[in-house]
Amino acid sequence: MLQNRRLTVLSGPSGVGKSTVVAELRRSHPEVWLSVSVTTRKPRPGEKHGVEYYFADDDEFDRLIESGELLEWAEFAGNRYGTPRSPVMERLAAGVPTLLEIDLQGARQVRCSMPEAQLVFLAPPTWEELERRLRGRGTEPPDVVARRLDAGLVEMAAEKEFDLTLVNTSVKDVCHRLIALMRSSSS
Ligand code: 5GP
Repeated sequence: MLQNRRLTVLSGPSGVGKSTVVAELRRSHPEVWLSVSVTTRKPRPGEKHGVEYYFADDDEFDRLIESGELLEWAEFAGNRYGTPRSPVMERLAAGVPTLLEIDLQGARQVRCSMPEAQLVFLAPPTWEELERRLRGRGTEPPDVVARRLDAGLVEMAAEKEFDLTLVNTSVKDVCHRLIALMRSSSS
């Protein structure tokens, strides 16, 4: 069985395909526990509370920050996102392989608070491909896409801060490599 006490963090620019990778992992490797984040963003069509995210209002998010219930949190493109701390700690303590899919600012916070975590940067095959994916997604209005592209430029420069880069040419290949990484660091 895949056992792992070292937290794995998947990060990278918005639109690179992190959530597609996570969805594929959920399907192909149910033994990996994927943290469900809290966000103040409104649900996209098809998103369910407690599955993709816990959807919260600003007051609730403030409360979670103040009570220290978030392992990390960040503001991204006008919304806030955070990782509930205790479910992650419980899984790690039980030896369950645990993965966070978070933005770059969150990955940096994890780097500080849990230096033993392994940070994986998911990169697009090319910048043009990232732009094409973000524009083609059709779930956000043009001003939000523009903000995400701006953020993406900054995020791409952060690749060197990560332990490993995976280029998202194939979702299955990325999943395979992530699992291999989690296995190689198993306790
Ligand atoms: P989206 O709105 O497209 O679902 O997510 C926007 C960005 O927020 C993505 O880069 C995603 O990885 C990031 N994100 C999702 N959950 C969290 C979280 O709990 N913490 C942080 N820091 N970023 C998150």
